[in-house]
Amino acid sequence: TFKRAADAIGAAVGRVVATSRFYDTLPLVLPGAAEGQPSYLNAVIVVESALPPLSMLAALQQIERDLGRDRASEEVRWGPRIIDLDIVAVGDLTLSVPGLTIPHPEMHKRRFVLEPMLEVAAEWIHPTLHADVQTLLDALPVDAP
Ligand code: ATP
Ligand code: CA
Ligand code: CA
Repeated sequence: TFKRAADAIGAAVGRVVATSRFYDTLPLVLPGAAEGQPSYLNAVIVVESALPPLSMLAALQQIERDLGRDRASEEVRWGPRIIDLDIVAVGDLTLSVPGLTIPHPEMHKRRFVLEPMLEVAAEWIHPTLHADVQTLLDALPVDAP
């Protein structure tokens, strides 16, 4: 699924410049969540794209659908799903409109985002927190996902 997603991003979003390794992440434990939920695989892809951010989001959501993600059948938010493609950041752009916030509002709190980013975008600096990826990682509490 990752390979197919990366290929589709290359075709619909822009040139794939770098791809991190896959990171295995334990699922967040939520009240009422099913026990034994499988772990997530996470990765960060760097893309050179000419698409405006909302078009990029629309393209990613189309790829999610093409790969079989069916939002209507997702009972639990953050529950298991076949693929989830988020825009983590777009250079030093900041944007907040209904349906799209850039940088992703949770990215700086998530080890599973920052660790793969360190591999492929270590030099990126968060445009509002003014911190690089390693600094954001160092600021995480030990129990951050
Ligand atoms: P999270 O946002 O905490 O990672 P999620 O990815 O599981 O949760 P989804 O159900 O996939 O949540 O998406 C919910 C909505 O988030 C999408 O419909 C989209 O409009 C919105 N959204 C806002 N900012 C972004 C972003 N930077 N990248 C992707 N989706 C975003
Ligand atoms: Ca997500
Ligand atoms: Ca998402």
